[in-house]
Amino acid sequence: MLTQAPKGTQDMLPGSAHRWQRIEENMRSVCRLAGYREIRTPVFEHTELFQRGVGDGTDVVQKEMYTFLDKGGRSVTLKPEGTAGVVRAFVEAHLYADPLPCKLFYASCPNFRYEKPQAGRLRQFHQNGVEIFGAKDASADAEVIQVALDVLKASGITGLKLSINSIGCPECRSAYQAALKAYLQEKLPALCRTCNERFERNPMRILDCKEDAGKLTDAPSMLDFLCEECSEHFEALKKYLSALGISYGIDPRIVRGLDYYTKTVFEIIAETPDGALTVCGGGRYDALVEELGGPSLPGVGFGMGVERMLLVEDQQGVASEAEPLYDAFVVTMGAAARIEGAKLVRELRENGLRADLDHAARSMKSQFKYADKIAAKRVVVVAEEELSRNAVKLRDMENGLEAEVARENIVNILLEMKGE
Ligand code: ATP
Ligand code: MG
Repeated sequence: MLTQAPKGTQDMLPGSAHRWQRIEENMRSVCRLAGYREIRTPVFEHTELFQRGVGDGTDVVQKEMYTFLDKGGRSVTLKPEGTAGVVRAFVEAHLYADPLPCKLFYASCPNFRYEKPQAGRLRQFHQNGVEIFGAKDASADAEVIQVALDVLKASGITGLKLSINSIGCPECRSAYQAALKAYLQEKLPALCRTCNERFERNPMRILDCKEDAGKLTDAPSMLDFLCEECSEHFEALKKYLSALGISYGIDPRIVRGLDYYTKTVFEIIAETPDGALTVCGGGRYDALVEELGGPSLPGVGFGMGVERMLLVEDQQGVASEAEPLYDAFVVTMGAAARIEGAKLVRELRENGLRADLDHAARSMKSQFKYADKIAAKRVVVVAEEELSRNAVKLRDMENGLEAEVARENIVNILLEMKGE
C-alpha cells in the first residue's frame, strides 16, 4: 500500500520529464503565436458547476466524478474536464469586459475521472486545452483545430485524423432527437443497459456507445436536420479547413461526452501500430457561458490528453531522448581542489553551462565512474598539481583524450564546445 500509487494514477518520473516538458513547451509556443493567454483554475470546484456545466445526464457527471464533502460540509468535485472551471473564472473575473474574443489556454492541467483504469485511461490525467470566448464565426472553430493539430505535430506524432460533425443548436437538435428516438425505439431490446438508460435522457449518446454503435450504422444523421444557421456555420467551417490545408472526415456519429456542445464537435485520433487512440476532442459551446451565469457569449475549445500523447509517441516510436544532464562534470582530487571545483561549478552555471561536482565525498576513481554512468560527455579535472600552474585538465569522455588548459580559459572553451 505505502509504496503503491492509487489505482489509475501515474507518477511523472524524472526519466520522462523531458517529454512532458516538451509537450508543454510546444503547447505554450503554439498558443503564444496565436495570441492565447494562460489561465490556471483550481483543481476543485463546487459540484454544481459540473452538474450544470458538463450536464447532469452525462456519464462524466453520473459516474465519473470525484465528489466529496469538505470539512465545512460543502460538496466539492475534483475537476473532470477543463472548460467549466475556465468559464466560471471568465464570468467571475468579468473577463468578458475585456476586448473580445478572449483567447485562453492551459497546459498539463490535472483532471480526475473515476473510470475503469486501462491503457490510456487514467483516474488522474492531464489535459492541454484552449477556449475562445466571444467568437461566433467558424474561423474560430478552424483556428482551434489548427492549434490542436500544430501542438500534436510539434510533438512528432503522425497518422493524425481529424473528424468533424455538427450537433446543431437546441432548436434543430430536438427535431433530430425525435427522429433518432423513433429509429432507436424498436432496436432498444438489442442494445446494452446503458443505452437503454440513455434513451430518454440523452439518446444521441447511444450513437457513441462502444458496444452498440456498430448496430446503428443506418441511424438518421444530425447533419440532415441542421437549421439554416447551423448548416451555414458547418459549411463555413469546412471552407476554412480546406483553405488552411487541413484534411478532415465528416463523422455524424461524433456526439461527444459533455452536454454543453452546440454546432461544431470534433475529434482527433492518432493511428498507431497498436490501434487508433483519441488524443483530442473539442467543439463549440454557445450556450454554456450564459448557462453558468455569464452574458450570452459563444465559446469554442478543445481538450487534449497529455498521457494519450505520450502513449502515441511510445507506440509510434517517436519518443524523444533526454539530453545529457551536464555540459561538464567536475572531478576533483584533494581537499583544496574540492573548494576550487565548487567555485568552478558556480562559474560554469553562471555562464549558462550545466555543471556539477561530486557531493558524496567519493574517491577520484569513483568520481570518474559516476561521470561515466551519467554519460557525461566532458569532465574537468581539478587537482592540486595543475592548480599550482593555474590550470585544469579537460577530458573528452567519449575518446578519453585529455588536455591541460589554463584555468582562466576553461569556461570559454566549454562554451565554445557547447555552441558547436
Ligand atoms: P473518451 O471517448 O476517450 O472517453 P472523452 O470524450 O471522455 O474521451 P474528453 O472529455 O473530450 O474525452 O477529453 C479530451 C481528451 O482527454 C481525450 O481525447 C483523451 O485524450 C483525454 N482523456 C479523457 N479521459 C481520459 C482518461 N480517463 N485518461 C487519460 N486521458 C483521458
Ligand atoms: Mg470518457
